[in-house]
Amino acid sequence: MNIPQRDYWEQLFQNLKIEGRAFIDGQYLPAVCDATFDCLSPVDGRLLAQVASCDLEDVNHAVSVARERFDSGVWSRKAPAERKRTLIRFAELLLANADELALLETLDMGKPISDSRQIDIPGAANAIRWSAEAIDKLYDEVAATPHDQLGLVTREAVGVVAAIVPWNFPLLMASWKLGPALASGNSVILKPSEKSPLTAIRVAALALEAGIPAGVFNVLPGFGHTAGKALALHMDVDTLVFTGSTRIAKQLMVYAGESNMKRVWLEAGGKSPNIVFADAPDLEAAAQAAASAIAFNQGEVCTAGSRLLVERSIKDRFVPMVVEALKAWKPGHALDPETRVGALVDDTQMNTVLGYIEAGHGDGAQLLCGGQRTLQESGGFYVEPTLFDGVDNAMRIAREEIFGPVLSVIAFDSAEEAIRIANDTVYGLAAGVWTADLSKAHRTAKALRAGSVWVNQYDGGDMTAPFGGFKQSGNGRDKSLHAFDKYTELKATWIKL
Ligand code: NAD
Ligand code: MN
Repeated sequence: MNIPQRDYWEQLFQNLKIEGRAFIDGQYLPAVCDATFDCLSPVDGRLLAQVASCDLEDVNHAVSVARERFDSGVWSRKAPAERKRTLIRFAELLLANADELALLETLDMGKPISDSRQIDIPGAANAIRWSAEAIDKLYDEVAATPHDQLGLVTREAVGVVAAIVPWNFPLLMASWKLGPALASGNSVILKPSEKSPLTAIRVAALALEAGIPAGVFNVLPGFGHTAGKALALHMDVDTLVFTGSTRIAKQLMVYAGESNMKRVWLEAGGKSPNIVFADAPDLEAAAQAAASAIAFNQGEVCTAGSRLLVERSIKDRFVPMVVEALKAWKPGHALDPETRVGALVDDTQMNTVLGYIEAGHGDGAQLLCGGQRTLQESGGFYVEPTLFDGVDNAMRIAREEIFGPVLSVIAFDSAEEAIRIANDTVYGLAAGVWTADLSKAHRTAKALRAGSVWVNQYDGGDMTAPFGGFKQSGNGRDKSLHAFDKYTELKATWIKL
């Protein structure tokens, strides 16, 4: 795809009227208390919008509307094929507005415009379309009942779903949840991150235009400790789905326990190992993938391959290849179509990342490239892709999720040691394995405690396979038919014949 030059995007920005209000019952509304916060672009510091800072009263309003609409059956009792048609129209409207949505995503969270336009927005549309297409092909069951009994096993929509999402792939993470939640017939309240609310707010109007009834899909921008917490504690939210940090994920389980025991499904953090054995089939491909695994999306990726485990016999040859590959990932203005690394989401995140770079130095790791803030004159928050060699898995940069472009190289001597180091983490989201030995590939893949394992590639996947974590990376799965488990309750109905 040919991505237009920066002046095209600036022109589009001039003509945009950016909406910052909440969307409840088919209307844009300010927060009840009228509070707003500034939405600043990390690309260059420009003010994008004043965004409604929703709180308890807005949550109460949205939940009561969502409940009423669910009970009314306007959406929940529609034939699956009808919900399918409406959601496919919604997906098509996302694509029809892809330039505007991509621009909002890039200005709001800093990622390169080429990524927003080619990955995030088409990916979001695809996620919704895929779930929509599935919903009239899912059959319920008849149990293996005796002759005089009929046991029906059916799935029912859970009711009111609250979705709390992060800022790294704002619309895409939301769509992984919206697709199956809405297709199943639920009412949804989406709370985007306070760092990236703009696309969620915009697509609410597109959902209404597509024919999703007012009040079935609501968007509440606001902070985690206000709007997010109020949703998580609400007695009338049936299911809470979340993507974000492990720290907040744990808190949400507490809120559920303190309130109505709502179902809680969590996609949380990661510290994923990418293991390169000496017999990798193509070291150049492995080096390219290792660079992309930490630099793509500024390293703000839950599955970032942030621990590069390299067999000692090839380390001196392989690590310089990764350093070389990282040169192609130079930060640039996020609205330039050639840019592959944009701005970090805000100054706080930038300072967190720079703090980890300090910690790497302090713990005695060797900096081989990057390590600095860059493009300061832009007014934005850019950090160079950074590689530390000589990392021990006990160092902070190897244990904690940095959520920035900082790669740690850890040497190993045997497959057993690689697996032990790889699994020595509280997380279990993803892992990579590079080897030409088929049995070693399978043995290692089986031994890795992670929800996704990639062999001789990093970060493969589409809507057909489930995505989620082992251990403290979460529970439940997004994508694939397994995602519908989160949005439906199973019912057994026994009929005496
Ligand atoms: P975060 O946990 O800080 O915030 C996520 C969301 O939770 C935001 O909308 C925030 O407002 C809300 N929130 C914060 N405090 C809350 C509270 N007390 N109650 C209710 N809601 C609250 O995460 P983030 O910084 O936005 O995103 C980065 C994190 O997301 C990383 O840890 C990353 O690994 C994770 N992530 C995971 C996946 C996955 O699929 N496993 C995908 C993308 C990102
Ligand atoms: Mn923002």
